[in-house]
Amino acid sequence: VSRNAGEIEFHQAVREVVETIIPFIEDKPHYQKARILERIVEPERVIIFRVPWMNDQGEVEVNRGYRVQMNSAIGPYKGGLRFHPSVNLSTLKFLAFEQIFKNSLTQLPMGGGKGGADFDPKGRSDREVMFFCQSFMTELFRHISSDNDVPAGDIGVGAREIGFLFGQYKRLKNEFTGVLTGKGASYGGSLIRPEATGYGVVYFVEQMLNQRRDSIKGKRVVISGSGNVAQYTLEKCVELGAKVVTLSDTSGYIYDERGIDAEKLAYIMHLKNEERGRISAYADKFGCQFVAGKTPWEVPCDIALPNATQNELHVEDARMLIKNGCFCVAEGANMPCTPEAIEVFENSDILYAPGKAANAGGVAVSGLEMSQNSLRLSWTREEVDKKLKEIMLNIHSTCLRYGRKPDGRLSYIQGANIGGFVRVADAMIAQGLV
Ligand code: NDP
Repeated sequence: VSRNAGEIEFHQAVREVVETIIPFIEDKPHYQKARILERIVEPERVIIFRVPWMNDQGEVEVNRGYRVQMNSAIGPYKGGLRFHPSVNLSTLKFLAFEQIFKNSLTQLPMGGGKGGADFDPKGRSDREVMFFCQSFMTELFRHISSDNDVPAGDIGVGAREIGFLFGQYKRLKNEFTGVLTGKGASYGGSLIRPEATGYGVVYFVEQMLNQRRDSIKGKRVVISGSGNVAQYTLEKCVELGAKVVTLSDTSGYIYDERGIDAEKLAYIMHLKNEERGRISAYADKFGCQFVAGKTPWEVPCDIALPNATQNELHVEDARMLIKNGCFCVAEGANMPCTPEAIEVFENSDILYAPGKAANAGGVAVSGLEMSQNSLRLSWTREEVDKKLKEIMLNIHSTCLRYGRKPDGRLSYIQGANIGGFVRVADAMIAQGLV
């Protein structure tokens, strides 16, 4: 604990995993002898660096950049870059740690990593964002390559930022390689990558509901966030006949009782991706409610999909959701539910899936982008979507395989943690003490 003092989010993520792994390895001395748990929580390497850049007023600004190379037992480090003022070492270590298990669950050859900076792209001009990305990459390029560490996007890093980062990497290295995923389709990006996390969440939810011979059609869905994951989760929900009634951002949530349809989603995409505006503009445009400063968990629903950020769904929200009849919660974001909220879900009979299983579709298609880049060809939308569906189905099967509690109940969190752990732990043992 003292080694990672003050790293609250990292402790939270480790505790959640370790609680399910310790009982599993109790009768498996080879994992204990190799001290896998002690090794897997220690990053292989952490890089921290200064990012100086100049704003539009000609003033010098300084941010801190990071790359956490957590585990490379089953493949090159893989995980997104986050640009957000809240970014610190604890957040990135928690995300990199989660990424180890998530990537393993996809069955693709990808290790765990995460990075980013405490830079806030909000309110910055395209020019400022480009200068920042170029300065960030001017250090990061020394530590990444298509064979050893392949970053992607995350909060605050979308298509625009990936483009600027890729351009600078290519210029510094004089190499056109698949060193980043989430690239534009015109320069090596995979089709379906922008949609993959959100679509994957919904494919996973379909599998969960299938356990109860049910489907998403006709269900009332509450979604938080309005970024990449939220937008495409919404798109797939609507396509499959569900009614989505909320979205949110840092300023509050909108509640549209008539449902957010494809046309309204097009407006949201323009608002958030082009204008970079506030979600309250939706309420003004479509004449619905905007609730400032709150999360949408008080709105009655069948299915809740937290898709914004970590620790956004608290214990009282969990109780409220259940009281209002919600029977399925799947995490599109990473660690959006607090440990106390998870305990409430795990001790109820609702279906609850952690992010490392439910949102693995994004990194899965990033893995497919790496394959396409290596092969120097592009698969069609249909091919990629089919593979994404298969991967989400396999992750669900892994959860079923490892998720049975002694009393016979199914815990997706246990299934995802153990299912992700086994492959990495076996590879670490096979590779010796490295
Ligand atoms: P975006 O930056 O596209 O969107 C983030 C959304 O969450 C925005 O609506 C943002 O609001 C909101 N948000 C961010 N921080 C907070 C906060 N502190 N409180 C309330 N709302 C907040 O990010 P993504 O959609 O890509 O990522 C969302 C989540 O999904 C993250 O947890 C990420 O790690 C996870 N994830 C993303 C993947 C991907 O492929 N992109 C893959 C797997 C997981 P605002 O507009 O006001 O900033």
